[in-house]
Amino acid sequence: MTYQHRHINGDPLKFIPGKAVCIGRNYADHIKELKNQTPKNPLLFIKPNTSFCGMEPTLTIPSDKGQCHHELEISVLIGAPITRHQTNVIDSIWGLGLALDLTLRDLQNELKANGHPWEIAKGFDNSCPLTSFIPMNEFPELDNITFQLTIDGEMKQNGHTSLMITTIEALIQYTVQYFSLLPGDVLLTGTPAGVGALKKGNQLELNLNHRFKFSTLIG
Ligand code: ZN
Repeated sequence: MTYQHRHINGDPLKFIPGKAVCIGRNYADHIKELKNQTPKNPLLFIKPNTSFCGMEPTLTIPSDKGQCHHELEISVLIGAPITRHQTNVIDSIWGLGLALDLTLRDLQNELKANGHPWEIAKGFDNSCPLTSFIPMNEFPELDNITFQLTIDGEMKQNGHTSLMITTIEALIQYTVQYFSLLPGDVLLTGTPAGVGALKKGNQLELNLNHRFKFSTLIG
């Protein structure tokens, strides 16, 4: 694979891209829109590193597998190993960015209805487009981060980390009870309401904390 994590200044980061640990149903408004139940514990799933890709200037989505939904999420890049014995996990985060947790929604619904795992609907090649990452010192308050997705000029998703059911810190602490985290791993922290199908030709603008902006064209 040719994907590499990048610093917001454009430089490649030395980390070997690892796994993405993702959380489902971490914002109440999104749970409601998909008519799901609020889980008792964080609902985790994994995307392999073959799902990673950059997203600028264009992004290709599958055209023959039903609806492909965007889920805008804050992504967390791990910079140092974290195991379940570690109490301070925040210092092991390298930085934050944005991700689109691409989801083949028709396929996922079919799999869910049959009680099957979702992997092929969530972990297919290029299903985890990532922006470059911004170092942690730019984010003094993890519970006060805003992020937005605009498609063709229309605001589709507008999130704020204070509305997460499980905070970033708690999500990492829960994750490492099951999966140790290594430098180059990424956490996707859940999507707020407003998910929907992407179409070829859509122009996407992603915005993190009203400061860091990214854009891509769906091809
Ligand atoms: Zn998601």
